[in-house]
Amino acid sequence: MKPLELPLARAGIDRAGELRLNPTHLAELWESGRILHLADGKFATAGEGLALFSSVEIAALESSSAFYEGERIFLGQLDGTGYFAWCTQSVSATESATKDSIEKATDLLQHFKTLREIGDDLSDLEIGLAVHSQALANWHHTHRFCPKCGSTTTSSNGGSVRRCDADGSEHYPRTDPAMIVLVTDRADRILLGRQKVWVEGRYSNFAGFVDAGESFERCVAREVMEEANLPVSEITYLGSQPWPFPASIMIAFSAVTDSPELAKPDGEEIVDIRWFTRAELSTAVADGSLNLPPLMSVSRKMIEAWYGQPLNS
Ligand SMILES: [Zn+2]
Repeated sequence: MKPLELPLARAGIDRAGELRLNPTHLAELWESGRILHLADGKFATAGEGLALFSSVEIAALESSSAFYEGERIFLGQLDGTGYFAWCTQSVSATESATKDSIEKATDLLQHFKTLREIGDDLSDLEIGLAVHSQALANWHHTHRFCPKCGSTTTSSNGGSVRRCDADGSEHYPRTDPAMIVLVTDRADRILLGRQKVWVEGRYSNFAGFVDAGESFERCVAREVMEEANLPVSEITYLGSQPWPFPASIMIAFSAVTDSPELAKPDGEEIVDIRWFTRAELSTAVADGSLNLPPLMSVSRKMIEAWYGQPLNS
């Protein structure tokens, strides 16, 4: 199978990592920069895309008292223009909020949407900005304290590092690798599994987090054995995409089994599994008994790549 082209792997900007160490230059870029705004993990939108603000507009929002915990994150540079994210919480999440400030925030938040809601409509540039800023926003929000000593930490290096205020130790954004695998048999049927918690009719590929001290390939073999009782071989890399919900990267593989008859769900995480030929898959999608994973997911692209063309659902 050809390498996958994955929707959240798109990008349109130079991350310009060398500028993160130059606060003066970053401050200058901010003044003339284009700035996206995240509040409570949602993006400010304009039409189908991301709203991009000037530093003056952000300063006005900053003094509106509708948002707090404002972190400036440097996302990169394009044609000399700096791109940033302003990551905040909305005041409606605090106990000390006044009625006035909550109303203001609620009004503003009407135009905020999650990446899952808007992802399918974003350009390459926008998706790169959105995925980068969402991953960092999630991390900043949950890493306010030093894992060594428990003191507060402060964002540094354009938002790519947090530094302990007491002992100076540096802490870096964390990304959790999760692998996802397209399992086929020698007749080129595809195996899909169903998790109990999923929406009606949803079947998807097998996936799981890489264990500590484990290679991707070992993880693929282990997960397919655990969830579907199947030995697999010919484990082949297909591609990867960030999945900041909240901090993963999905690494995609294909694998083949010689013993399709052994497939059975583990009964815990996976409650049902089914083999599909292309004709069976197409029929199941058409009659609504198979509910495919969302367009921006790796699994959707894997299933479509195996099928040979996009599937409507
Ligand atoms: Zn510390």
